[in-house]
Amino acid sequence: MRDVSLWRGLLGVEKTVIERVEFDQDAELLVAHVRPTRRAGSRCGVCERRSPGYDTGQGRRRWRALDLGTVRAVLEAAAPRVACPEHGVVVAGVPWARHDAGHTYRFDETVAWLATQSSKHTVTQLMRIAWRTVGSIITRVWADVDAGCDRLEGLRRIGIDEISYKKNHKYLMVVVDHDARRLVWAAPGRNSATVREFFDLLGPDRCAQITHVSADGADFIANIVEQTCPAAVRVADPFHVVKWATEALDEVRRTAWSDARALARSEPKRSRGRPRADAPPRPGSQRATALKGARYALWKNPENLSDNQQIKLAWIAATDPKLYRAYLLKEGLRTIFAMPHHAAIEAQEKWISWARRCRIPSFVKLAKSIVKHKATILAAIEHNLSNGLIESTNTKIRLLTRVAFGFKSPDALIALALLSLGGHRPALPGRQ
Ligand SMILES: [Zn+2]
Repeated sequence: MRDVSLWRGLLGVEKTVIERVEFDQDAELLVAHVRPTRRAGSRCGVCERRSPGYDTGQGRRRWRALDLGTVRAVLEAAAPRVACPEHGVVVAGVPWARHDAGHTYRFDETVAWLATQSSKHTVTQLMRIAWRTVGSIITRVWADVDAGCDRLEGLRRIGIDEISYKKNHKYLMVVVDHDARRLVWAAPGRNSATVREFFDLLGPDRCAQITHVSADGADFIANIVEQTCPAAVRVADPFHVVKWATEALDEVRRTAWSDARALARSEPKRSRGRPRADAPPRPGSQRATALKGARYALWKNPENLSDNQQIKLAWIAATDPKLYRAYLLKEGLRTIFAMPHHAAIEAQEKWISWARRCRIPSFVKLAKSIVKHKATILAAIEHNLSNGLIESTNTKIRLLTRVAFGFKSPDALIALALLSLGGHRPALPGRQ
């Protein structure tokens, strides 16, 4: 056949003999009949070792290749079986595709690149495949990347966190490298067995190299870290500490809101339309509405408040001293993380005694947690491991989890997360 090198280039194959190319006009499908070169043929699909032929298998097979323009293209070849001394009778490997894959290497790489760069809709429409297929492709691309590198090498300062997805029904445990600012590991679940899985994989030698571990306050993580990396400094995750305070504050806001609602219920019902000038005042109902709208004003960092939210906050300060006190407590705790270490030690003590005496149950309780995690909170400040990194990684994974909703297995989600955030972004074929 002529123009062999052109066809090889167009189909993106190597070590491949192109026997002939047909164009099925009705199906708008280009079918390239191919076979491995003599040197690339008769190899085990698993280990690529040269192996004696066994039988012809199940006849000819097709592999989807990248489209040629708007025309879909497939490679078609015999799929004989070989007898590998190690893997037994297996389908022979082919130089254009991964073992057991229905798509060529080039197709797989292109899908993996697209999946880390664009939306679900873009990948499935452009490549004309189901999202489930995208899942299988990125899982096998990641498996190859993972086999070719040691992503746990050289870890010193790590962060462990759990993230939820599928509306908090499923969890992933994730580990990030604070120094390289990348995701290094993720697994489904959120218990000690999951965390242990990571440290088992890391092994005792590399565990001994770990100098800092940041984590949320979960005891089961702390326990395992203490057992496996006894020399490492344990560090609180500032994001989680501030989140505890935000939750305590929200509890106060909700109580204030339901008190106002209870008052509103005792007030006379208002008839439809514009209230008359002499209508009785309904302070409870007004208050409930205002408190409902105050949520974001209370949550946001003060420097990010809009004018309207600042007014809301001023209104709370003037009308609800308890809720305002809770707000100041939350802000006070947040500020500690921005302080230099020596100032933070004193500020933390002051905050604890303030919170203990504040007569707001949720903050009295929070004070106890802060006392418990005092050392790890100060360690975070001392070692400058503010968890901006783990939080930004988490935010990105959360975005990914939303995209990866349709994946049947968490493996595909993890593969996508590691390919996107682990420093192994796939390259687009032919662009190097
Ligand atoms: Zn083999």
